[in-house]
Amino acid sequence: MKYISTRGGAEPQPFCDILLGGLAPDGGLYLPESYPQVGERLAEWRRLSYAELAYEILSLYVDDIPAADLKAICETTYTAQTYRWCRPGRNAADIVPLTSLEPGFHLLELSNGPTLAFKDMAMQLLGNLFEYVLDQRGETINILGATSGDTGSAAEYAMRGKHNVRVFMLSPEGRMSAFQRAQMYSLQDANIFNIAVRGMFDDAQDIVKAVSSDAEFKAKYKIGAVNSINWARVAAQIIYYFKGYFEATRTNGEEVAFAVPSGNFGNICAGHIARMMGLPIACLVLATNENDVLDEFFRTGIYRPRATTETQITSSPSMDISRASNFERFVFDLVGRDGAIVRQLWREADADGSFSLADGPFAARLVGCGFVSGRSSHMDRLATIRDVWRRYALMIDTHTADGVKVAREHCVAEVPMIVLETAQPVKFAETMHEALGCDPERPAELEGLESLPQRVELVDANVDQIKRILVREC
Ligand SMILES: *Cc1c(COP(=O)(O)O)cnc(C)c1O
Repeated sequence: MKYISTRGGAEPQPFCDILLGGLAPDGGLYLPESYPQVGERLAEWRRLSYAELAYEILSLYVDDIPAADLKAICETTYTAQTYRWCRPGRNAADIVPLTSLEPGFHLLELSNGPTLAFKDMAMQLLGNLFEYVLDQRGETINILGATSGDTGSAAEYAMRGKHNVRVFMLSPEGRMSAFQRAQMYSLQDANIFNIAVRGMFDDAQDIVKAVSSDAEFKAKYKIGAVNSINWARVAAQIIYYFKGYFEATRTNGEEVAFAVPSGNFGNICAGHIARMMGLPIACLVLATNENDVLDEFFRTGIYRPRATTETQITSSPSMDISRASNFERFVFDLVGRDGAIVRQLWREADADGSFSLADGPFAARLVGCGFVSGRSSHMDRLATIRDVWRRYALMIDTHTADGVKVAREHCVAEVPMIVLETAQPVKFAETMHEALGCDPERPAELEGLESLPQRVELVDANVDQIKRILVREC
């Protein structure tokens, strides 16, 4: 399987060559040159464990790692030990347990990994793939990133202790929740460097961009990234759509719907690909918070990325985005995989601030694409958290609440609805308290996390200072 760019201007590449990179050289995102079809295999896959299913799906996309090695990587990645942070009564060996709230309305629990958010599902695999490929090639990588919470911690827990990988993670001083800070800063691994920047998330992000655009420095210090456009992250997320489908149905003739709390369109992009592979998904329900770029697109056909200054800070902060980086992958498929059209649309968005597919050759396809959407506000979020707590005695986090709220608006009789649970409530304690008047539950092993010793270097928002740290440690 080779990978091509959504903008049509890059040489097709094998999986291991795009694994460690970011954007394609023409500015596009990598996608497989075709989607393998599951067909009859669906029946066999129903019986598989999560790790076995992961191997079956990934082996369709990865043909440059020997089968036995890929299998071993899947088995090391998806263990009950790693995904043990589940609610009482769940079976950790399920990796992604399904909880039925009522007949035909389910939660798929994706946040039982080490950082209690769904990003672990893909990032843990990435950590093991990076280590494997770097070992094979005798190379090292220094991952430089900026985080406002979930991504940075997932990357650190995935890369901690790995050979040939160091992580330098910038975070805005004092902006993350106490729990999120403690998760990251309490790591004592020698290859993890937490750097708190005096400033906002955007300041940290600007430093990462500045360092990465210094080509000479980037090459000399082997700077890399693990951002949400990484193809392996999307591929890893395809797996749980299949697992969720098997849990919620009895036979392979049945259709289901998935509701997905969305920011960068990474999670739901994997759902789109699962459906392209032949998984019977009747509907993908996209939920946004107040930052509703994607809801606007699916309602009107107009994609209007916002300026970062327009991005609202909300109580589902991991969905606070101004542009949805993975969205380009979906549009590539929608316009018949024509890179020239994608290039033209993004040129329009850059020049005019938006593009529209509402009229013209793709309007009918958009109507028939099997996506619906909705938006959830702070008040909706609080009301949904309260309602789910009262009715089912279950605490859900703020992002999952956005998913439940929008899922309810799109339920269809006879089609099971599966809402993806993307984080555990303890990560967002303040809003949980506002909704329920009590502190959220937390896994027993994490009692006292906030009082562990912390390891973090505090610096001014200054590019040279970050470069000095990299030079010192590499
Ligand atoms: C990252 C994240 C999201 C958004 O996922 P995308 O792949 O960016 O759409 C939703 N919820 C939580 C808790 C997250 O961490």
